[in-house]
Amino acid sequence: MEGSSVSGKPRVSTAVVIGGGLGGIAAALRLRARGWDVTVCESGPTFGGKMNSWTERGFRFDTGPSLITMPWVFADLFRVAGSRLQDHVELIPLTPLSEYFFPDGTSFTYSADLPQWLGTLKRVAPADTDGFMRFLHLGSRLYEVSKQTFLRRAPFDKPELADLSVLKDFPLRHGWGNYHDTVTAHFRSSHLRQLFDRYPTYVGSSPYLAPATLAVIPYIEYAFGGYAVRGGLYLIVEALVSLACSNGITLLADSEVTHIETNGAQARGVQLAGGGHLPADLIIMNGDAALTDKLLGTPSAPIEGRSMSGFVMLLGLKRTLPQLRQHSIYFSADYAAEFDQIFNAQRFPDDPTVYVNAPSRGDRSSVPGGEGETLFIMANAPATEGGWGVADIREARRRVFARLAKSGFPNIEQDVLVSDIWTPRRIADRYHMPGGAIYGTDSHGWKNAFIRPPNRNHKVRNLYHVGGSTHPGGGTPTVLLSAQIAVEQISRS
Ligand SMILES: Cc1cc2nc3c(=O)[nH]c(=O)nc-3n(C[C@H](O)[C@H](O)[C@H](O)COP(=O)(O)OP(=O)(O)OC[C@H]3O[C@@H](n4cnc5c(N)ncnc54)[C@H](O)[C@@H]3O)c2cc1C
Repeated sequence: MEGSSVSGKPRVSTAVVIGGGLGGIAAALRLRARGWDVTVCESGPTFGGKMNSWTERGFRFDTGPSLITMPWVFADLFRVAGSRLQDHVELIPLTPLSEYFFPDGTSFTYSADLPQWLGTLKRVAPADTDGFMRFLHLGSRLYEVSKQTFLRRAPFDKPELADLSVLKDFPLRHGWGNYHDTVTAHFRSSHLRQLFDRYPTYVGSSPYLAPATLAVIPYIEYAFGGYAVRGGLYLIVEALVSLACSNGITLLADSEVTHIETNGAQARGVQLAGGGHLPADLIIMNGDAALTDKLLGTPSAPIEGRSMSGFVMLLGLKRTLPQLRQHSIYFSADYAAEFDQIFNAQRFPDDPTVYVNAPSRGDRSSVPGGEGETLFIMANAPATEGGWGVADIREARRRVFARLAKSGFPNIEQDVLVSDIWTPRRIADRYHMPGGAIYGTDSHGWKNAFIRPPNRNHKVRNLYHVGGSTHPGGGTPTVLLSAQIAVEQISRS
């Protein structure tokens, strides 16, 4: 990408990326591949944003994502950066995807291996085999439409004829409704209803408020699989950072952008917290899109409709738990009440559903000397400003352990050698996410789910957004797609 300078010599255009999360690094690599001179400014000490890691006394943890889907989206980014995903990381398919524990004592594993899962269905919910197939079919139709529209371009980009023709395949029956109602219409078993109702939480939303189109999420996981990474997901970030360096991208850690300088509708550069200034022809905002107006110094709309945050405990145990699967879900007794407390009462639920990820079950290199376990234990929490003092943390921890104990999980409190806790407040402070909302705005209703903050800023011509808070939404593959969509828009402009 070349512009002209005052001297008449061709000048390479410069881009500044605000935030070194997954979306920011992806946008930087894609811009660099198109000839831009790119600088990434990250306020924190490390790159990767919420996709980060923590190591203590030989226990290694991913602090954010524990499962990725749509691996070809990652592979495409590595290709753009001149490399190959498989040369950097080994993806481990998760079979089964998860073990589910229900409040009535029932438990079973959910597998993307169809014969295995059909065997389980026959045993635990024989009347729901047909419903499962229909639900999967609904998800597949939604996916076929989304992959050519929502996941490929910005909502208001001029569609191609092929995009419009694919809309005729949109499933009118069930496609428009409410997510929970659609799940209820497909499954009779309360266990399967709760299992499939969980998927909107992948984008920080409630099944009772999300649209049925989110049925695409369980389809994607089932059809294309869920993957862990041997050595931890952070290896993906490390590989991308190393490719960024070798491709000549400037990466500045501990460099918070405090202001986007504009000249009317044109951005000119950014100011850094330390007083520095970086001129730019193009600015990409990878931080939460809700904060862009603040950086521009323009009046901003109130921040509302936030997706969920999380209460996360990272525990390194001296004890090995051979019976534990890599991914386990311990459901609360009243799922509707749990989401009501999170979204309406805006408080941590009395009885939270608990997700336990034990990477050490599939990869013994995450524990020192091959002994013990690494546990990532997470419960959904409301995105709220303030709160989360010592007493709140103690109480949330008590409720999480109470749910685990009721579900038959062994008492591990005496076995903890290292521990670290992430609260919504810590997530908010570390990653500049209002309320600690992990996925930006929630996906409740059609407007929030599909008209997300656009990749191209409405007010400032050369300012773009990438990341989970913008189109097409949160979760690692969609974040990578946001960078692809934004850079394609830039190239066309
Ligand atoms: C606990 C947890 C579990 C998760 N589990 C999964 C999972 O299993 N699978 C999955 O796919 N996804 C999961 N996610 C979501 C996934 O991590 C995110 O969707 C994705 O990593 C977000 O990437 P992003 O590009 O939006 O950037 P972010 O990770 O939000 O990074 C943005 C970066 O911008 C920086 N920044 C912000 N403002 C400024 C500024 N003014 N100046 C400089 N820097 C700034 C921030 O410090 C941050 O590093 C999880 C997230 C969390 C927290």
